[in-house]
Amino acid sequence: MATTLDPVTSADVVVAGAGPGGAAAAAHLASLGYDVVLLEKDRFPRDKVCGDGLTPRVVGEMLQLGMVDEAHGRVDGWATQRGLRIHGGSTVMELPWPELDDWPSWGATATRKVFDEAVARRAQAAGAQLHEGVAVTGPRWRDASQSRAAGVTWRDEDGREGEVRAPVVIAADGASGGLGKHLGVTRRSDRPMAVAARTYYRSSRSDDPWISSFLDLTDAAGNLLSGYGWVFPLDDGTINVGLGLLSTSKDFQAVSYRKLLGSWAGGIADEWETTEANRTDAIRSGPIPMGFNRTPLHQRGVLLVGDSGGMVNPFNGEGISYAMEAARLAADVVDRAMTTKRTADLDAYDRELRQRWGGYYTLGKVFAELVGHPAVMHACTTYGMPIRPLMELVFKLMAHLTDRHPSDTKDVIINTLSRLVPAA
Ligand SMILES: Cc1cc2nc3c(=O)[nH]c(=O)nc-3n(C[C@H](O)[C@H](O)[C@H](O)COP(=O)(O)OP(=O)(O)OC[C@H]3O[C@@H](n4cnc5c(N)ncnc54)[C@H](O)[C@@H]3O)c2cc1C
Repeated sequence: MATTLDPVTSADVVVAGAGPGGAAAAAHLASLGYDVVLLEKDRFPRDKVCGDGLTPRVVGEMLQLGMVDEAHGRVDGWATQRGLRIHGGSTVMELPWPELDDWPSWGATATRKVFDEAVARRAQAAGAQLHEGVAVTGPRWRDASQSRAAGVTWRDEDGREGEVRAPVVIAADGASGGLGKHLGVTRRSDRPMAVAARTYYRSSRSDDPWISSFLDLTDAAGNLLSGYGWVFPLDDGTINVGLGLLSTSKDFQAVSYRKLLGSWAGGIADEWETTEANRTDAIRSGPIPMGFNRTPLHQRGVLLVGDSGGMVNPFNGEGISYAMEAARLAADVVDRAMTTKRTADLDAYDRELRQRWGGYYTLGKVFAELVGHPAVMHACTTYGMPIRPLMELVFKLMAHLTDRHPSDTKDVIINTLSRLVPAA
C-alpha cells in the first residue's frame, strides 16, 4: 500500500522509527504543539524481539503519556505483576517492586505487537502524522558542507521516494542505528553489549504474578555461563522465555543462542511447561546496545533516542523505559531550542542525559565486566543470594529504582555511588 506522504513535506520535527522511543518523542512534541512527522518502515501491529517486560520506569512513562491511570486500571493485552522472583544458587527469592515516591510500584508485560502500536497510536492521537511502511534512507543536508541536517530522505514499500524537511531530526531507528551511521556515529567498543534470544510457550503459569529471572544459566554440558535467563508471563496464555549473554563473557561470540535457549527451556520444562510442543513462535535473537554505546547523542541537528544511542541499562538489559525517558527529554530540549532558535542549545540533550545516567552506566560497565566471569557470578549467587537485605539493595540498583530525595538508606548508597563515579 503506497504512503499518502507527499514527496516533499515540511514539519517542525521529523522522527525516524516508531518504536517506543520514536513514538514517545512524537507524542510529547505533538502535545507541545509542534508539527511532527513520524516515519516507520514496518506496519503495525509489528513484532520486535524483546522480553516484553515493562518495569515501573516504563509505567512511569506511560503515566506521563496518559496511557494508564494511577489506579492501574487494566489495559487490554497487558498483564501486571508484583515484582521479581529471582533464582540463583539454591535460592529463590520474591522481591516486590519497591514503594517509592518517584516511581510507581507496579510493572507489566505486553507483547511488543500490542505495546508499540499503543504508543504509536498515542502519538497519532496527540497530533503526530504517522506514516507506516516508509523507511528513512538518510539525512537531508541543509547544504553541501553537511554541517547541519535539515530533514530526512525516505523510500516507501512501493519504491516511491521523497523527503521531509525539518530543522530537527530525531533518530529513533533502533539498534541498527542506520541514520546515526550516516552521521559517522559508530558503536563504542568501550561500552558493553549483549545479545539475547526469546521465544513463547503456552503455559498454565502465564497468570504468574511475578516476572522471573535466572542467574544460573548453564549450557547443555552443565557449564555455568555468564548470562541470565527470564520467564515473563503474558496476558494471552503464553510466557516469554529468553536468555542473554554480555559481550564481556567469553562465550558471547561462540554460543548458538537458538540452541542454548532450546536446551535451557527444556531444562526448566517441568516447572514452566516449556516443551517443544508448547512453543508458539520461532526462537529469535537481537542485539542489546548498552551504557550509551553510540555518542555523541546530538550532532548536526540530529538527536539519537533509545537503542540508536545505545541507551540500554547494562545491569538488566532494560531499554524501553530509557528510550521513552530520553524521548521526553529530547522533546523538552527541542522545545527550548525552538524558543531560542539556537542549534547549539540541542547539545543540552547529550549533556543532560549523561548527567542523569552517566555515573550509573559507568557502574553498570564495571558490573558487566565482573559478571562476565562465571566464577564471580557463581560466588555472587552462592553467597550473596541468600542475604535478603543485600538482594533488596541489588534489586534496586539493577532496576535503577531509587527516589531522588531518598529516605531509604539503600537509595542513598546507590545515588551516592552513581554521583561519585565519572559519567560514561
Ligand atoms: C531479546 C531482547 C529482549 C529484551 N527484553 C527487554 C525487556 O524485557 N524490557 C525492556 O525494557 N527492554 C528489553 N529489550 C531492549 C528493548 O527491546 C529496546 O531497548 C527497545 O526496543 C528500544 O526502543 P527504541 O524505540 O529505541 O527502538 P526499537 O524498539 O528497536 O524501535 C525502532 C523502530 O524503528 C524502525 N526503523 C528502523 N529503521 C528504520 C528506518 N530506516 N526508517 C523508519 N523506521 C525504521 C523499526 O522498525 C522500529 O519500529 C530487549 C531486547 C532484546 C533484543
